[in-house]
Amino acid sequence: MASRGVSIDEDLESARHDYEALVRQGVSLDLTRGKLDPLQLDLSGDLLALPGDRYLSADGVDCRNYGGPPQGLRELREIFSGLLQVPVDQLVASGNSSLELMHDCVVHALLGTVPGAKGRWVDEERVAFLCPVPGYDRHFSLTERFGIEMISVPMTPEGPDMDMVERLVAADAGIKGIWCVPKYSNPDGTCYSDETVRRLAAMPAAAPDFRIFWDNAYAAHHLTDDEIEIADVLAACADAGHPDRAFVFGSTSKVTWAGAGVAFFGSSAANVSWLLGHSAKRSIGPDKVNQLRHALFLRDAEGVRAQMRRQRELLAPKFEAVDRILTERLGGTGLATWSAPKGGYFIALNVPDGCAREVVRRAAEAGIALTKAGATHPYGDDPRDRTIRIAPSYPGLAELEQAIEGLAVCVRLVGHERELAPAAS
Ligand code: PMP
Repeated sequence: MASRGVSIDEDLESARHDYEALVRQGVSLDLTRGKLDPLQLDLSGDLLALPGDRYLSADGVDCRNYGGPPQGLRELREIFSGLLQVPVDQLVASGNSSLELMHDCVVHALLGTVPGAKGRWVDEERVAFLCPVPGYDRHFSLTERFGIEMISVPMTPEGPDMDMVERLVAADAGIKGIWCVPKYSNPDGTCYSDETVRRLAAMPAAAPDFRIFWDNAYAAHHLTDDEIEIADVLAACADAGHPDRAFVFGSTSKVTWAGAGVAFFGSSAANVSWLLGHSAKRSIGPDKVNQLRHALFLRDAEGVRAQMRRQRELLAPKFEAVDRILTERLGGTGLATWSAPKGGYFIALNVPDGCAREVVRRAAEAGIALTKAGATHPYGDDPRDRTIRIAPSYPGLAELEQAIEGLAVCVRLVGHERELAPAAS
């Protein structure tokens, strides 16, 4: 099928022409990662001047010195407790990266013993994680780096395919974890339904030390008025008699400054003391000055929501532009489908099977850098070679529009070449 009464041959011819013009333009555009636009970073400009001459926390901790609660400043944990759905006493404010906390949890589970475990994961015959796909490439590279086997589970509009998850987790004691981005997931924007959360919390697991790595990176990152709320995973796990099952992660990387904010860990009291016990061996404590600065800047949960509304004003028009251009150029062609997320940082574009790598390669040749095809799957291998992650946040609107126009040309070119290939051979 080709678009709007034009034959495939004609549209391929016009795509070739458009592609040549694109290459001639010599653009250099980058849609690879979910970085913040400098205008978004400017929203937190006051952080540069904070905490000013203040160095005492609300409860009198001198943030310039060692000491204070290993859990991090209480006033900052109070701000994020509701947003991350973690009781304040079970929430840890840590360093600058939640990915680092996920990494540490994996390493400590391998080399230490998580509550409920018979021993160290490293001594087990086999350690595997379920990986809902498409998913976040850094989760997959983290588990791959430690030799943890990754088992793909397809995503549905309500989260991972729970029939498959339940079946695998009940039968296989080697499955120790599952990666979850439950809200506005990376890259397709899926939000887990209440039923999915309930089933994850309640399902029987063959491994007594099975853990849900609940990466709630986009907890407050709405793009529309339909501000999605998801079920409280820690409460659901506790209700189901599995209080230690979930590790919750989050950070201010996309609230204030990426990589220069504060990361959080939340879980049962037993898991929190397990992590803090190990963390105490690697650090005398977190950067409390940065935590104080964030608490003063954000003030309270409403302050975070207000900040996220300002972020949305800058981000939403970019997501709208991507959707508009893809609809104009590819709608009705049968060559692509894409997600329309209500929050988060990414759009997943699906092209015909076997075309994603070639689309990314052609785009790169024309000066448009996209996340590597396959990155959305374990081991960088998308078996259908069809999913491309679009990260619209960093370029300015005009540059973004140019990049998506160019991407649409590449999809038409590669898609039609593929459609005509069997006839030609
Ligand atoms: N989790 C997800 C799902 C992400 O998309 C990102 C950033 N792209 C991170 C974690 C990284 O967060 P942090 O900066 O807190 O390490």
